[in-house]
Amino acid sequence: MDQSSLVDRDLCRRFDISGPRYTSYPTADRFQSDPGPQLLVDALQTRLTTGQPLSLYVHLPFCSTVCYYCGCNKVITKDHNKSSRYLDYLEREVDMQVAALKGPRTVAQLHWGGGTPTFLSDGEIMRLMGILRSRFDFLPEGEYSIEIDPRSVDPKRAHLLAELGFNRMSLGIQDFDPMVQMAVNRIQTFEQTRDVMQAAREAGFKSVSVDLIYGLPRQTLEGFRATLEKTLSLQPDRIALYSYAHLPQIFMPQRRIHDTELPKAEEKLSLMAMAIDTLMKAGFVFIGMDHFARPDDELALAQKAGKLHRNFQGYSTHAELDLLAFGVSGIAKVGPVYAQNAKSLDEYYHDIDAGHLPVRRGYRMDQDDALRRAVIQELMCHFGLDFAAVSKTWGIDFLAYFADALEQLHPLAEAGLLQMDAQGIAVMPKGRLLVRIIAMAFDRYLQADRQNAPEGRQRYSRVI
Ligand code: SF4
Repeated sequence: MDQSSLVDRDLCRRFDISGPRYTSYPTADRFQSDPGPQLLVDALQTRLTTGQPLSLYVHLPFCSTVCYYCGCNKVITKDHNKSSRYLDYLEREVDMQVAALKGPRTVAQLHWGGGTPTFLSDGEIMRLMGILRSRFDFLPEGEYSIEIDPRSVDPKRAHLLAELGFNRMSLGIQDFDPMVQMAVNRIQTFEQTRDVMQAAREAGFKSVSVDLIYGLPRQTLEGFRATLEKTLSLQPDRIALYSYAHLPQIFMPQRRIHDTELPKAEEKLSLMAMAIDTLMKAGFVFIGMDHFARPDDELALAQKAGKLHRNFQGYSTHAELDLLAFGVSGIAKVGPVYAQNAKSLDEYYHDIDAGHLPVRRGYRMDQDDALRRAVIQELMCHFGLDFAAVSKTWGIDFLAYFADALEQLHPLAEAGLLQMDAQGIAVMPKGRLLVRIIAMAFDRYLQADRQNAPEGRQRYSRVI
């Protein structure tokens, strides 16, 4: 598939509305407030999939400087004592969850996200890994990943991470252009990035993925092309190409980005088209949403085999595992239950001191949620739906059950984003960048909202 079939500028203009990224369904903004810690305790105690290993997520919120484009849940500080206290509480939270957990504690997936996990000192990283390893049994062939900041990881640290068992690394580049880096307050040299990626390979990391962002202030076609070329010279296994979503009313740091320095809509579209063209000419495969991978990468192979999944970290090769989450804002998914931790350190510490899990939002899926979730996953991962297969698995008549959703897809079919008949849906190459627009038709909650806000809510990023 070449870039010309993936990017249709007219369609991108026409369907550039805001919408969820569907790392979960229902989306996290639908979770109920204060469901009580018992929601998660019950889910942990009544796990049905005790024969399956677990997936673990740890949120480490600290960063030493702020990147102005950032929309993550983070704490900016230079005070490294803060992370030591945080680890004390993390350990207590891990123990509370383990006490409630039914079944073996085998782990096949681990992800440390942030914030900046490598804000921790070497000693703290070793301590945290020790806490996890002493409570869980890590499978030797598992996927153990960490988000690193090349500004806080030298080659020696990369080797330490590998020794501790990490075998996948992701790191932010965003843009190598010094003018852009100044405008977003993230100064990170090509050499820093190159050295850490080289060290990761020498240390035995199986996969290194990088993030790039288009639509940043002062970005030009020429400058971003140079960034892409430099990035490709580092031979990452995966590249995430994100669109910068400027929502200063929601994300405070973005108020320091000058509107006048942002590329206009048409320039942003050109940046995206050029970037996709460059990546595809370099042999990368479009996985979905904003993700590209080398053709021999396990994500590309899983997609080809119809075995790709989507979770809070994006695309994954693992069939769905119960996910335990530790730390501020972490979201667990155990069976039909989502549970999100307190977002601020004060609330998080308060709840643990009070002797209970710091669950502040949550949701228990019903059968309809689970069905819609499966449909949306299938669209996002494999760009198609087989109505008979879904009907058989879920005991429904697809055409009758989703009559409203299918009705809504007609204009998208007429525009060429998809083909649809009585048997199923096939998302066309030029509809793939816009697949979340198609998925939105199956989102029961969004449909209910639409009557009030037909153009979509500000809380979601735009597609392009
Ligand atoms: S982008 Fe990453 S490193 Fe920068 S402030 Fe946000 S979480 Fe921290």
